Amino acid sequence: MTPSERVLQGIGVSAGGAVGPVALVVPPEPLPDEPRPEDPAAAKASIVAALDAAARGLEERAARLEGDAAEMVLMAAGMARDPGLVEGVDEQLAKGFGPARALHQAFEVFIDQLLALGGYFAERVSDVRDVSARAEAILLGRPLPGVPELTEPSIVVARDLAPAETALLDPALVLGIVTADGGRTSHTAILAAQRGIPAAVRVDGALDLAAGTLLALDGESGRVTVWPTSDTVEALQRRAALRAHVATLSGPGRTACGHPVALLANIGDVSDLPVGVEVEGVGLFRTEVVFLSAQHAPSVDEQVALYEEVFAHFEGRPVTVRTLDAGADKPLAFANLGEEPNPALGRRGYRLGVRIPALLADQLEALSIASRNCGALVKVMAPMVATPAEARDFVDAAHAVGLQQAGVMIEVPALALRAHDLFAHADFASLGTNDLAQYTMAADRMLGDLSDLLDPFQPAVLDLVAHACEGAASRGTPIGVCGESAGDPLMALVLTGLGVTSLSMAPSRVAMVRHALREHSLDTCRAMADAARAAQDATSARGAVAALASPALLELL
Ligand code: PEP
Ligand code: MG
Repeated sequence: MTPSERVLQGIGVSAGGAVGPVALVVPPEPLPDEPRPEDPAAAKASIVAALDAAARGLEERAARLEGDAAEMVLMAAGMARDPGLVEGVDEQLAKGFGPARALHQAFEVFIDQLLALGGYFAERVSDVRDVSARAEAILLGRPLPGVPELTEPSIVVARDLAPAETALLDPALVLGIVTADGGRTSHTAILAAQRGIPAAVRVDGALDLAAGTLLALDGESGRVTVWPTSDTVEALQRRAALRAHVATLSGPGRTACGHPVALLANIGDVSDLPVGVEVEGVGLFRTEVVFLSAQHAPSVDEQVALYEEVFAHFEGRPVTVRTLDAGADKPLAFANLGEEPNPALGRRGYRLGVRIPALLADQLEALSIASRNCGALVKVMAPMVATPAEARDFVDAAHAVGLQQAGVMIEVPALALRAHDLFAHADFASLGTNDLAQYTMAADRMLGDLSDLLDPFQPAVLDLVAHACEGAASRGTPIGVCGESAGDPLMALVLTGLGVTSLSMAPSRVAMVRHALREHSLDTCRAMADAARAAQDATSARGAVAALASPALLELL
């Protein structure tokens, strides 16, 4: 008898539907018991040789790949060649560990450091674990861990997938990816989306699935149905066909009654430029992303070259550049004022720019030069601004170097509350709802366990958005949203109803939001905003909005 259908919920990170059996990525075997090495020098030599072989294996893989995929695998190879790792191995051997354990412990110390840094660095942990498992397998003469040889089209289920594994998956045999760990910006998510493989991450219960179990995966909603009925499979296929149609729609963002809401892209570097997705410009260029692994501050010339490359793609369209948002979840080696007990509340974003003035001055100068050399409509904004006075200082500094459109992100509740004063200075503002939710709800955005509190449908967050929009409207100043909430179709409607004038999101979210806007009038969006703000909590706010949404949109979610 076929077991009955049940649903596991995760986060959809690569849209598309897939139905197929589970191919389980078996975790590496436990390490053997090893005696204290008699000859630590020989043990070290064998470890170094294993690390070298692991690095060479990854470099050979990278040579068969292109673009981001090649870069990520090369980055993994670089970890195996990190001299700090060999120093760590020395320390572990000195404690009396055998070679495999010493190697493993050295990697664990490295992993703990990345986890302590959080954010982008914590999301690299699965890459390091993969390199560690490879080097250990080579040292012990065991087969390399990873995805099993696939004999039929399958859905790969893993704790997480390393870049080397994800990059080499054959889309003809890999129907989808389901992981228990990972996040929206982990390599699994980035590469799966790039390769068009439907994927869901952070799926509760994924690791309890047995090989061969039939799954229906919805990469949009992150829903994974175990032993789906034929009705579920048909519904998934119908949604996939509808979404494929929605992806063909084009044109600027407009509600059903013609009210314009610009649809913009969030990017981190040139490789994120939207391909095959029509956008009206860039609403958030996260400049710190390019420099995450840089040891020294980039020169003005280096920055000019980088910005010009991006601006060249947006002739006649706006590109909103955010000055370096260093610190907390995005630490930069060259913009660091030392350890702080609570980095999210510390000297990050604009606060760092004030304390290291050359950093901000160089970036504004580079942006000013690059904007003069190109036809994009360059706008500049500062992150983590807390007061109208800070906003005024930043806007004045940008105007002084010839950048005409200068604004700020509203991601600190204090600034949202003082929006009327803020708009006496700013040419525009963009609501960073990721941080706005974190600071409003006092809930660390990196803690998956607090995701309920971080839901942007929290009525308190919506009240702050509404207040900021009123401040902007009182002076006729544009106000956008560039947090992840802008890419949620229902939330995009609420934000429109609250008065935002542009929505900036991951390029893959644009088609659904364009469709959602076209399905609803501004009056309906306003009614949705009122209903959400009148709700007692995030879940009922979302429910109240869904109750006003068109069936044609609900069918796609
Ligand atoms: C935000 O906080 O919403 C935002 C867009 O900035 P980031 O996610 O880069 O902090
Ligand atoms: Mg932010």
